[in-house]
Amino acid sequence: ARAQAMEVDASPEVVYDDIGGLEEQTREVREAVEEPLLNAEQFREVGIDPPSGVLLHGPPGTGKTMLAKAVANETDATFIKMAGSELVQKFIGEGAKLVRDLFELAAEREPAIIFIDEIDAIAAKRTESKTSGDAEVQRTMMQLLSEMDGFEDRGEIRIIAATNRFDMLDRAILRPGRFDRLIEVPEPGPEGREQILEIHTREMNLAESVDLDDWAGETAGFTGAELASLTTEAGMFAIRDGRTAVRSEDFEDAIEKVEAEDEDSVGTPV
Ligand code: ATP
Repeated sequence: ARAQAMEVDASPEVVYDDIGGLEEQTREVREAVEEPLLNAEQFREVGIDPPSGVLLHGPPGTGKTMLAKAVANETDATFIKMAGSELVQKFIGEGAKLVRDLFELAAEREPAIIFIDEIDAIAAKRTESKTSGDAEVQRTMMQLLSEMDGFEDRGEIRIIAATNRFDMLDRAILRPGRFDRLIEVPEPGPEGREQILEIHTREMNLAESVDLDDWAGETAGFTGAELASLTTEAGMFAIRDGRTAVRSEDFEDAIEKVEAEDEDSVGTPV
């Protein structure tokens, strides 16, 4: 069961250069996660505890998972991902057991980065959680916090969590020694969008006429994930037209398509 719930990647392929427009966030993640992993001795000599957990928050598809994978790659750490929703289990003690398994696996594979996506599934304010198994969810969260408390003797394990619903979080998990590093990962601005478009067209055969700066201007409100799918769609339009070079008109068609998909999904959970 543990293999199903967790995604384990011994060496994720994402590097910092694959991430567009999140310089400040990358710097902060490196400081909070990479430094303590690579220079544990220095922290010991200075006599401070490294940040316990890092919480990435922001809209879906903005690069939170990428950041966590990149830092795992860069530190040669095993990347272990678990969705918060997977930790919400039917039977008493099952969620807590998964948390223990998660940390056990990390200890076997250290250095390791544990990435918990949708942490809100187990760490929502009690008044706002609609699940009937409230006490059980609370217990799972307590197990997670207690595993984190044991960090000092746990060696080279770091924990990163992510949420799209920062406002829903129980503030108790943000206390010092818990998720005490908050990093906001926002939707990209114009420059970020241009960088993201550049990254996702690196391997693409673009016609001279394609000006990514222009398309960055035309895509206000697009997330990184939407920009990635935009470039793929543009390529698909070229293929449908029997061409091997992607033109400006393909981007135009692709923007319409991605925007239409976005409208379709309004109101439905992501
Ligand atoms: P969620 O909250 O839905 O889990 P997320 O913030 O973790 O989303 P990612 O999984 O990191 O988002 O991004 C999804 C995909 O979108 C990436 O695999 C990548 O192709 C693209 N993407 C998102 N953000 C960026 C970015 N800043 N730079 C480059 N590509 C990006």
